[in-house]
Amino acid sequence: MTTEQGKLAPWQWSDAHWRQIVNQVRAGRALRPKAWPGGARCAVALSFDSDHDTTELRDGGDSIGRRSQGEYGYRQGVPRILDVLKKQGVKASFFVPAVVALLYPDEQRRVIAEGHEIGIHGWIHERNSELPPADERDLQMRSSEVLERITGVRPVGVRTPSWDFTPHTLAITKEMGLAYDSSLMGDVDCYELNMEGAPTGVVELPVEWIRDDAVYFNMNRFASLRPYTSPNDVFDIFKRELEGAYNDGGLFQLTMHPHISGHRSRIWILEELIRHAKGLGTVWFGTHAEIVDYVKGHAAA
Ligand SMILES: [Zn+2]
Repeated sequence: MTTEQGKLAPWQWSDAHWRQIVNQVRAGRALRPKAWPGGARCAVALSFDSDHDTTELRDGGDSIGRRSQGEYGYRQGVPRILDVLKKQGVKASFFVPAVVALLYPDEQRRVIAEGHEIGIHGWIHERNSELPPADERDLQMRSSEVLERITGVRPVGVRTPSWDFTPHTLAITKEMGLAYDSSLMGDVDCYELNMEGAPTGVVELPVEWIRDDAVYFNMNRFASLRPYTSPNDVFDIFKRELEGAYNDGGLFQLTMHPHISGHRSRIWILEELIRHAKGLGTVWFGTHAEIVDYVKGHAAA
């Protein structure tokens, strides 16, 4: 980015300048396969971001009340989610900040022992765009090392905290040799990420705020933030996204948070969605890593 252009208002930029910005990270090759494993009509990628205490810690962390909601994620949220997944025989992906893994190593070992995946989710749920590039790189690498040390499994994917993605994030992910990122929203199906116009080999398994429980349920006592959607309506939105994926023969990806959805009045959404998916026909429930691995090998020509 040229500094002279950067001083101008966006409508004054040269074509070369805004093209350079847009091309930093861009969707490349589409990766929807012609068919899914076992003749499945669509793939279902369930994910749980075990942020726990870190959403409070990363902002300074002085509210014991809000931190206790993180403890709920560990004490009640994750166990309830794991019970549903076990009962339904479904595998999923958990994205875990390193600080959460250090606070609750037993939780991470149970997640792995029950056949699920753990991916990178920052150090303390930091906002990448506030960090110097060297710190972002250092934290993402250290986070991977902590997860591997605790679980014995090296992560193959990353979801940036708050899906905050800098012009340096993709280069770090590529340098680490990770198979995928799951923080961007350029499609409903997997795609390869291009960096400055060149394919990187890194697959994007896209997320969307629409398919994220936090958007509908988040609450802050001292701000005007209140839940605005009923659990029934949240289920209906997720169900329609799922049915659309089934009709398209594509991918349904969902993000939930243990401290948000792991409550008695909400956990049913997860189980009912899984039941509904099974009722549609043949669907494939895979971890994000499994789905990425499959689409890389079966991309439609
Ligand atoms: Zn998170």
